[in-house]
Amino acid sequence: MKIHEFQAKELLSDYNVPIQRGHVVYSSNEIEKTIDKVQNEFNSDAVVVKAQIHAGGRGKGGGVKYCPSTESAIESANEILGMNLITHQTGEEGKLVNQILITEALDIEKEFYFALMFDRAKNADVFIVSTEGGVDIEEVAEKTPEKIVKAWVNNDTYPLDDAINTIINSLSLNSFNDAFEIFENIYNCYSNSDCNLLEINPLVITEDQKIIALDAKVDIDSNALFRQEKIAKFQAVSLVPGRGDALTDPRQINDAIELTEDFVTSTFKSVSKIAHAGGDLKEAMSSCRDECDKKFSDYAIYEHCLPFNVSRAFDEAKGIDNPRIWTAERDKEMWNLLQ
Ligand code: ADP
Ligand code: MG
Repeated sequence: MKIHEFQAKELLSDYNVPIQRGHVVYSSNEIEKTIDKVQNEFNSDAVVVKAQIHAGGRGKGGGVKYCPSTESAIESANEILGMNLITHQTGEEGKLVNQILITEALDIEKEFYFALMFDRAKNADVFIVSTEGGVDIEEVAEKTPEKIVKAWVNNDTYPLDDAINTIINSLSLNSFNDAFEIFENIYNCYSNSDCNLLEINPLVITEDQKIIALDAKVDIDSNALFRQEKIAKFQAVSLVPGRGDALTDPRQINDAIELTEDFVTSTFKSVSKIAHAGGDLKEAMSSCRDECDKKFSDYAIYEHCLPFNVSRAFDEAKGIDNPRIWTAERDKEMWNLLQ
């Protein structure tokens, strides 16, 4: 299961890994106060506005903007929130940006590539690092493969300490006293969170000589979600069928209605009936929301009352249906189309 950058950073932060700090915005009326909050809290007039979608390459696609002033930050935030972002990883149809992260701007001295994943061939976790960070690692692998360094970890044959020392040497971080602890904490985060992949691109050295995770991409093993209470809740704002893409296609709308129909309670069945019959959907949805509040508040992130979507997914690990509900003012497309 993919999670967003801001969620991945929250996990890293729980393990005391220094991250580029910021706050998430879900709706345009939160933009100004959030920019103000970021500027004050992190003592940074310049901020960076970052689209939160489940795909990389956002910078090149126009989804990451450095904003030197409050005015430019407001302009970029309004532009990026709600945009259809196309990157080399989204496909040509792009992804609708339902939330943005507004972060402190950092003065960067160096950008590294960092990743942790499982290497099946060696039956070990592998650190992959490169001094060529911030850019497409695929390009580095193709053009200058010697700039990519790997170090394996496995309880029996490859000790964690050796792997960490290898990457510290290859990135010339020997003079950073906290480097070992940071990499150890990242490894623990990766391992304890059941990550398939934890990628930090770039991991930076700032001009004031701090190691900071500027970006983060995390893929979690879905079968392990039953023991990842915190991460399972991230699903409430994660991509499920029909979300993240603008619902303009009638088939998607039908799918969404079908998912709604599928939802277990009779209240939800009546919503789609009302939708099909052109009845008072707003009223029906609001009563459904009350029902959901009672039943699924743990899964819900309620920023705004309406509209909301519901869906369920089969949780293989638990062998039960796992209901999901999420709301966002940004789901207006669906709402308008259902009116
Ligand atoms: P993506 O990988 O999706 O393109 P990143 O978060 O890696 O998005 O951002 C792309 C680039 O934007 C970074 O490599 C960095 O050069 C720049 N950038 C992002 N955040 C900041 C920041 N807070 N301060 C300065 N530059 C930044
Ligand atoms: Mg990146």
